[in-house]
Amino acid sequence: MPPANRHNPKRAKSSQSLYSLHEFLAEFPSDEVCLEWLWRERHSPDGENAHCPKCEQTRKFKRYETKQSRQSWTCTGCGHHLHPTAGTIFAKSSRPLTDWFFVMFLVSSSRCGISAKHVERELGVNYKSAGRKLNKVRNELRQQDYTGPLSGDVEVDETWIGGKTHVGEMRRLRAENPTLPKNYSKPRPMVLGMVERKGKIRASVMPPNATATSSARLSHRTSSLSR
Ligand SMILES: [Zn+2]
Repeated sequence: MPPANRHNPKRAKSSQSLYSLHEFLAEFPSDEVCLEWLWRERHSPDGENAHCPKCEQTRKFKRYETKQSRQSWTCTGCGHHLHPTAGTIFAKSSRPLTDWFFVMFLVSSSRCGISAKHVERELGVNYKSAGRKLNKVRNELRQQDYTGPLSGDVEVDETWIGGKTHVGEMRRLRAENPTLPKNYSKPRPMVLGMVERKGKIRASVMPPNATATSSARLSHRTSSLSR
């Protein structure tokens, strides 16, 4: 076996990972690299020419060193500034982009979801800020999920969410309706989930009177709607 290069760790073939932490760190090592990635992804695939909304044509853009270290590229024709983070969830954030990118990495690489507490510990930020970041990333991913269709093999199943009715709540219900059976508990909402194998996930709350047929109908409708 050839000696492994410890400076360039490779993902093992047997690993289930599609994108390891090493690959993530190598691709996005600094705030500046993340910004450059956004610039190319959103405005300028070649990193130099982009559409200037003021000149209304493709122009050459330059990154000028400024005292305020502005996070923008400037049109060489008219001086218009383009901010790669404008209109994204990272806009006006006081934390480096690497924090945001790492949260996205955590969310997308975790199998069972991550908590705001986890983000708080990993980034060394306060709980409120961790929760805000996580919510923004989750909402963004959810919105992206809903724009595309489900395809290929899609698995559908439903489940009931929630636990037993709380004692206090049961007491109130019994006071209102003394004929309630002994083993009564409040109906729990049914959630229908659809998973595209190795792909997107959809979940929706079913109406209270849902039956097997109506869930089948909904799953059919949802998947055909998005196809
Ligand atoms: Zn311009």
